[in-house]
Amino acid sequence: MMALMLRRRVLLLAALVAGGCVRAQAGPPHEAGHFRDPDLVELTSLDPGIKLDVRYATDRNFVGRPVYSEARAFLQRPAAEALLRAHRALRAKGYGALVFDGYRPWSVTKLFWDLTPPAKREFVADPRKGSKHNRGCAVDMSLYDLATGREVQMASAYDEMSPRAYPGYPGGTPDERARRDHLRAAMEQEGFTVEPNEWWHFNYRDWRHYPILDVPFSQIAQRP
Ligand SMILES: [Zn+2]
Repeated sequence: MMALMLRRRVLLLAALVAGGCVRAQAGPPHEAGHFRDPDLVELTSLDPGIKLDVRYATDRNFVGRPVYSEARAFLQRPAAEALLRAHRALRAKGYGALVFDGYRPWSVTKLFWDLTPPAKREFVADPRKGSKHNRGCAVDMSLYDLATGREVQMASAYDEMSPRAYPGYPGGTPDERARRDHLRAAMEQEGFTVEPNEWWHFNYRDWRHYPILDVPFSQIAQRP
């Protein structure tokens, strides 16, 4: 009897979804206003010393499977050039930029939201508002050691959904905190601000001027 009732409920829900009564968000939010034309730049084209570790193109991410078909990273041109300057400034301290993610198509933000339990959603963007990654104005990054080429240890892993991810987390080793603070200072110098609960996520100051995009990497037109 219970099984029959449950089955009826499932069928009813399926009918409501099919009829459009329960509707999933179909596409990016519509925003009024004037925006700059997108000009997404591939970061590795600016300086081969900017290293990539695009975890979302692998299964080493919180989803557990690739959500990008290509390991590439882009930012809007002024943000990309600011990142390049930060990367060059960090060289004096023995580090280089290690980029995990830049521009992210809106449909991937939607997927992250849908897969994240409500209690952990402070760590993912609400697709109804879109993300600064969707505008090509946010970058997730860490540092690599110029001497070894290896990623440095920080106070938390990238995409770790815990208080260790906070930029002001007082734990970890002094070296981990110092590296985290070097990265933050270099990025702030170039017009980025750190996300309040993710030491690796930086927003570029002009993000409001760019629209939310849902263009796959393969369709990004590169200007010279
Ligand atoms: Zn991010």
